[in-house]
Amino acid sequence: MTRWAHSFSQGEADDGAAGRELLGGKGAGLAEMARLGLPVPPGFALTAAVCQYFHANARQFPPGLAEAVEAAIGKLGETAGHSFGDPQWPLLVSVRSSARVSMPGMMDTVLNIGLCDATVGALAKKCGSERFAFDCYRRLIEIYSHVALGLGHEEFEEALEAFEEARGYARDADLTADDWREVIGLYKEILARRGAVFPQDPRAQLWGAIEAVVSSWMNPRAQSYRELHEIPGDWGAAVVVQAMVFGNMDDESATGVAFSRNPSTGARELFGEYLLNAQGEDITSGLRTPLPILEAARAASGAKGASMETALPAALRDLRRYAAVLEAHYRDMQDMEFTIERGKMWMLQTRAGKRTGPAALKIAVDMAGEGLISHEDALLRIEPDSLDQLLHPTIDPSSKSDVLVVGLPASPGAAAGEIVFSNRDAESLAAEGRKAILVRTETSPDDIAGMHAAEGVVTARGGMTSHAAVVARGMGKPCVTAAAGLRIDYDDESFVVAGRRFVKGDTITVDGSSGMVMAGAVKMRRPELTGEFAVLMGWADKARRLKIRANAETPADARAAKKFGAEGIGLARTEHMFFEGARIVAVREMILADTAAGRKAALAKLLPMQREDFKELFEIMAGFPVTIRLLDPPLHEFLPKTELELANVASAMGADPSKLRRRAQELSEANPMLGFRGVRLAVAFPEIVDMQARAIFEAAIEAAMETGRPTHIEIMVPLVFARAELDLVKARIDATARAVERETGIASRYRIGAMIELPRAALCAGDIAKTAEFLSFGTNDLTQTTLGISRDDSGAFLNTYFSKGVLPADPFVTLDQAGVGELIAIGCARAREARPGITLGVCGEHGADPASIAFFEKIGVDYVSCSPFRAPIARLAAAQAALQREE
Ligand code: PEP
Ligand code: MG
Repeated sequence: MTRWAHSFSQGEADDGAAGRELLGGKGAGLAEMARLGLPVPPGFALTAAVCQYFHANARQFPPGLAEAVEAAIGKLGETAGHSFGDPQWPLLVSVRSSARVSMPGMMDTVLNIGLCDATVGALAKKCGSERFAFDCYRRLIEIYSHVALGLGHEEFEEALEAFEEARGYARDADLTADDWREVIGLYKEILARRGAVFPQDPRAQLWGAIEAVVSSWMNPRAQSYRELHEIPGDWGAAVVVQAMVFGNMDDESATGVAFSRNPSTGARELFGEYLLNAQGEDITSGLRTPLPILEAARAASGAKGASMETALPAALRDLRRYAAVLEAHYRDMQDMEFTIERGKMWMLQTRAGKRTGPAALKIAVDMAGEGLISHEDALLRIEPDSLDQLLHPTIDPSSKSDVLVVGLPASPGAAAGEIVFSNRDAESLAAEGRKAILVRTETSPDDIAGMHAAEGVVTARGGMTSHAAVVARGMGKPCVTAAAGLRIDYDDESFVVAGRRFVKGDTITVDGSSGMVMAGAVKMRRPELTGEFAVLMGWADKARRLKIRANAETPADARAAKKFGAEGIGLARTEHMFFEGARIVAVREMILADTAAGRKAALAKLLPMQREDFKELFEIMAGFPVTIRLLDPPLHEFLPKTELELANVASAMGADPSKLRRRAQELSEANPMLGFRGVRLAVAFPEIVDMQARAIFEAAIEAAMETGRPTHIEIMVPLVFARAELDLVKARIDATARAVERETGIASRYRIGAMIELPRAALCAGDIAKTAEFLSFGTNDLTQTTLGISRDDSGAFLNTYFSKGVLPADPFVTLDQAGVGELIAIGCARAREARPGITLGVCGEHGADPASIAFFEKIGVDYVSCSPFRAPIARLAAAQAALQREE
């Protein structure tokens, strides 16, 4: 037979197996606390099955429920030592909802059930306060009329206000017992006027309250909350009926909320608030300000009044003990509700407490140290993305902010500075030691210097993998892209957003973790990479199978990568090395040259610069692999855009500007992302490959001599779709290696691999792997080319796609497993078949996305490579993926 009611009281609870699904969060917590011997007021839970039945059967309760409630209320009376409806000493109960997943404030609650004209006097006698008893009674009439009889609060509130005004009272506390008696009379008049009756039979009250709470599962508020949080409507909620305890009986009584550890710092100390002589609703209504539980916290807050430690020291000792029991049992930080009635502590609720990223880390590591949980548990408890909060300065959550616009959170961290619109201004501000925020419609390679100099970047357009986003993430700078509605006027050096105008020099704050751009300088917190962070990372490194590399091309990035635990470089984008100063002119010279000789002259200028860059990378990464990708500039990112830029290149080349302009026009493409880039450049202009390969080999030889440690050279060819392309490039690289060997007498060991960034390349990975010694999936381009969605323009319509349910998430952030993932899985399988033991990696932005990492773990990729600042996130996500596979 279905069991509808589950009883609990201190020391015992029916049916230990019934969990949250049947009893809801509150019911399960109470039953568990009861079983652990903690003081919970006795009660029973009607299971969620009752609610399910009720809503599936035209609001009828299931057969057998009446008997079950009767038996449970009888048992409750026995345990409490007095019974429901007893005119000498009435047992009062509360009726509350208990959903499987917390739905705060969405469903109804009725307190003080059992009070009526016949019992209110007995309560007054028993607790020695008529005032208290009549106040409880009027609260019951008001709430019952609202939730069970469907009358609004307003009429009752207005009546009370008019009464208080007529008597000159300022607060409810000023009313005497006789006043409350009168108010109850007024309430009854309201009911009579509305043709309603407040039931005097406690059992009728109980059933009315149960029906109201069960019905509230379907109220519009609860329904929209469920929709928002994806809670299935057929779960239903349990109902908890429990003996009342009163925190508002006297000055030895109180009510409060406590966390077993500090939820913002994770410190191992009780943390919470309480109110003397009050009911729970007094805290939630905000009418009275609660005080800290601990005296030290009260003193630090400067709040007036007594802490619980001072006012009710014995109760605090009990609370500490119970918190320790609950933590030991649940092996997690608890968020508890309690009521103290005449000095006696009663526990009313317990659940896992919400906490900040830093607190989660500290609590997990501390609990493992205390032996409460294993290292594996600790690893699984931390949301990898929450480490972001530790790796970058973050907005201080206690600070106030004036949000101007919310764009895409393209690169995490927060920064404040003066608005600039040009690289020149960003650089000159930085030179003066001032902080700049670069605001652009979008960025291009020309902006690299400005981005370096600025503290943060905002672009009006773009997406999660647009130029600004990728470059800023690489630099570890906060960036917000697609700040829709932000209109820039470069001539006027101003922008307008949400009807407000900001000019050069005004201060703004960007939060690249949330996508917010705020007016003024908002307060921030600095990152901590020691202590618990280092400990947890050590555990993660032991648990993971996937190797973690970094996408880095500058020495600063490479050093950051090592600091954040990357095991080599998985992608050095060589075109990023050309973005700065004189270099971009030489690159433009090379691109615009219309003869091989012209190109060689430009390349000769670039060779020593490249060699120096690579040498530093090899030195910093001594002993680790360094994967250098041959030039892959979408040409449009490099072409001179202004007449001034054109004139600069012309004078460097000694060429006629008009001839150059023509050449630039010839090279301009309708669709540069699918144009003359990647390996196509290498096939057409092999002298570029010669120069880069030479720079790599010479740099590696020099670095090895200086460090005395071996170099692991990996040369990676971008955007291939056929083995034949790779063969052409490989022939040039091999020839250069032999030439350098002849010149230096030193042979270099190196591996040549291909980036898989096109669907055809994934499908033909078996053939490509006959030449390639490793493959690295460039999931940014592979997503772009598989979905046919431009990386740079996706911001305009993706939001509509999310809201209409076409896509669950941004495919440039979280891998589209069904499409792009399938191609990767096919590519891996075919490559392995052709070349067993081939190294397979991922170097798109997905390399640091936890959900994508779980997929890469599943298909057995060897490493992921991501921006240095996300390496710790990838380390933890890889550890979790490995642990979850083992489970
Ligand atoms: C990619 O396409 O995933 C990749 C890593 O290359 P890039 O972002 O430089 O195009
Ligand atoms: Mg790419």
